[in-house]
Amino acid sequence: MRKELMPRREFLKRAGQGLIGASCLSLFLPGCRLEEAGSDYDLVIRQALVFDGSGQPPFRADVGISGNYIKHIGEIGKNIGRREIPAENLCLSPGFIDVHNHTDFELLVCPTADSLIKQGVTTVIGGNCGSSRFPLTAAMLEDEDKYLSSEFGLKVDWQDLAGFFRRLEEKGQAVNFATLVGQGTIRAAVVGYNNRQPSTEEMSRMKRLASQALQQGAIGISTGLEYAPGSFASTGELIDLMTVLRESQGIYATHMRDEEDEVLQAVDEAIDIAEQAGVRLEISHLKIGFLKNWPKIDELLRKLNQAKERGVDLSADVYPYTAWSTGLSIFFPLWVREGRNEDFLNRLRSPQLEPKLREAIKEAETNLGSWSKVLIASVETEKNRQLEGLDLEQAAKIRNQGQDMFSFLRDLLVEERGQVSMVCFGMSEDNLKKILQQSFTCLGSDGNLASTTGRLSSGKPHPRYYGTFPRAIAEYVRKQKVLPLEAMIRKMTGFPAERFNLKQRGLVKPGYLADLVLFNYERIQDLATWSDPHHYPEGLPYVLVNGKLVVDEGQITGLLPGKVLRNNGQGQVI
Ligand SMILES: [Zn+2]
Repeated sequence: MRKELMPRREFLKRAGQGLIGASCLSLFLPGCRLEEAGSDYDLVIRQALVFDGSGQPPFRADVGISGNYIKHIGEIGKNIGRREIPAENLCLSPGFIDVHNHTDFELLVCPTADSLIKQGVTTVIGGNCGSSRFPLTAAMLEDEDKYLSSEFGLKVDWQDLAGFFRRLEEKGQAVNFATLVGQGTIRAAVVGYNNRQPSTEEMSRMKRLASQALQQGAIGISTGLEYAPGSFASTGELIDLMTVLRESQGIYATHMRDEEDEVLQAVDEAIDIAEQAGVRLEISHLKIGFLKNWPKIDELLRKLNQAKERGVDLSADVYPYTAWSTGLSIFFPLWVREGRNEDFLNRLRSPQLEPKLREAIKEAETNLGSWSKVLIASVETEKNRQLEGLDLEQAAKIRNQGQDMFSFLRDLLVEERGQVSMVCFGMSEDNLKKILQQSFTCLGSDGNLASTTGRLSSGKPHPRYYGTFPRAIAEYVRKQKVLPLEAMIRKMTGFPAERFNLKQRGLVKPGYLADLVLFNYERIQDLATWSDPHHYPEGLPYVLVNGKLVVDEGQITGLLPGKVLRNNGQGQVI
């Protein structure tokens, strides 16, 4: 396995051995045709080491960009680009595609998409984990509007995806944006927040809402089966709902029902749903939580590889960190979180339920080994702001002298009305590497849009918001050599573009859209840390979206060339 960037001589040698495609080889043959004189380009990138996104070894070339597209790759005559970027010391790859992100309305708050473009992300897929900002009933719209207008000054004037896309297009954004529709959101709209089966009529309505979102351009349906109310759906209900994906060739993306003790059963269910509904499957943020479950990784991967072998069209995404981030409330079982937020808070306060709640927290403690493995990422109130960035043991000490962990968690969640996010160190580094090495995995941050300035600069979010893609290269290619660089780049570009049917994206290829990243392999580095996450990575001086520089010499340009990408109903996302 190749460990370092290949010098040009080595490249030519391997090319001569037939190890790379003929199209690359022809670029170096004597007499290789120069681009004809008189051609002009908006931008020429000179002599970068090109990782084209296919997983093939790199090659050195000039890349000419005209309008939104890559026009030519090879040798380009001098001084015919309106702008030239000398890139002998840089790698050029397709823009990174973040297939698992939670960005949606944040693009309206920060259209320059700062934390995304600064890590080289040019296309982002939202609507994950069962939750999307549409479709909304009138009551849901009112709730959303209350929240978004008070927190972000945003008026919610959409109920369906068409309306949400219209709003995004009016505003413009720096990255391309595609979205799934959330099954949890659909279920909330039709069945509400209760744990019950839908009636036949409700089932039809859910399918209609899903179909409508797909017709309006959603690229698939997501589930978040650890979260209410999506979690109340049975396997049968999910199979029935996912059949609507067939017509539009959308994908089923699932945050599985369990990622810890019952992760193997959860994988079986995900495969079963895809197989029975006859649809493509994406397993979101593939991982196994808690030490005692880590040895299940080989069985988990065996199940996925076997399913693939028998024809299930599946892939999975992974983020390059060993801690996950979610709401602190997840330490309480689903029956406690069931229903609306107010129901959850009432159960927390109930003296009758206290013994059972204490038991649940005791069990969480056993699973974790120590509460020091959980950091408080963000709270809503100023009163508790001092707790952000502390682990639960430290935080409990500061807040509740003499009180036990259960009382601390209960009081904190009640004061914060359930809105406490956390980072939990519960994953295995070895498992992460094994997952990265699977042929069917791509990168997905599971993050959201953030910025070092403005409204999205608050709290202590998981560093993956800022560092996912640079970290995958810096830590798992350059430092730990888990994969060759071209293989890692493929997981960030060509492979996800193929899985999510992103037309003419994900490769450095003539005729493809010029979503491109230039990075310095020796210097690329994520700088966001657990306690101080709001830092952009370094070593990515240029990022282009649809042919326009959104990062130029390391600076955000403020251009908004991103497009809303829609499923065209025939299996292409344009
Ligand atoms: Zn999730």
